[in-house]
Amino acid sequence: MSSKQTKTADKKPKGAHPSDLRQADAGTEPRWNGKRLPATFEWDFPARLLPTRRDEVSERWSDRMDMALVDAIRASYAQPGPGAPSEAMLHAQREYHEAYGQFLYHNVAANSIHVSCGRGCSRCCHHFVTSVHALEVLSFYETLRERDDLEELVESCRKRVEDYDAWKEFCEETYPERTAAERDDLALEHYYDERLPCPFLDPEGACGVYLDRPMTCRMYLASSPPEFCEAENVTDERADVFTIPADESIAVRLERLDKAADYWGHSPDLYRSLVKLHEWRRRWTPGT
Ligand code: SF4
Repeated sequence: MSSKQTKTADKKPKGAHPSDLRQADAGTEPRWNGKRLPATFEWDFPARLLPTRRDEVSERWSDRMDMALVDAIRASYAQPGPGAPSEAMLHAQREYHEAYGQFLYHNVAANSIHVSCGRGCSRCCHHFVTSVHALEVLSFYETLRERDDLEELVESCRKRVEDYDAWKEFCEETYPERTAAERDDLALEHYYDERLPCPFLDPEGACGVYLDRPMTCRMYLASSPPEFCEAENVTDERADVFTIPADESIAVRLERLDKAADYWGHSPDLYRSLVKLHEWRRRWTPGT
């Protein structure tokens, strides 16, 4: 999920797909079913960044995250070659997620926030999942490889990527005056409007890869009732969606780890990165 997404002032009908829009656009201006599409979008996705506490507990868990990432970087250097990540890498990744979980828990409690998210509420699991890191994808894939439905899951990821890329192309054509970053944000918003569920949701609406879910899924929370996380309500003034990111120093460490652990052409988009890793592994290191 992007921490900052933009939105059209006048939303397109639900379920519209970029190919429908193109088909309807016989003239020079973007249209859908004869209606002119809005040419501007004015507001940011309203997730607020919650300030983290600068206290002893926060610092302790930040240090643990940092140490886990140092261990992961070292383990990736010791990795004999590209293939399945070593147990040391996976262990460091788990330590990192565990330390972040404690950091999050402490900061939510210290800010006296009531979190309304719970098992089975999957409203936010309809975003195009972005900002994932290389080792997260490696460990995520290790879990998927054990599943009988691996090929179907990868195929679903591939379809999500095609869908998002179609929106991206649509936004490039439709909003040429906007910056690339703004168009990317708008493509994310259009994708969210489509309500495509994450392929990893289980039939009960819970995350089917809960222990391996990436940081971007972990840090996104709400204190408002679940309906305010729906695409059409998320800008309502009663919506309260927030993220609690780790410290900046952690982000720097993650960048180093991304370089150290990436051998398949990692992409920050979860679905794209999984598809690429799956193809890479099947082609170059089958059986690892
Ligand atoms: S990986 Fe899990 S938590 Fe993240 S979007 Fe998918 S189902 Fe939701």
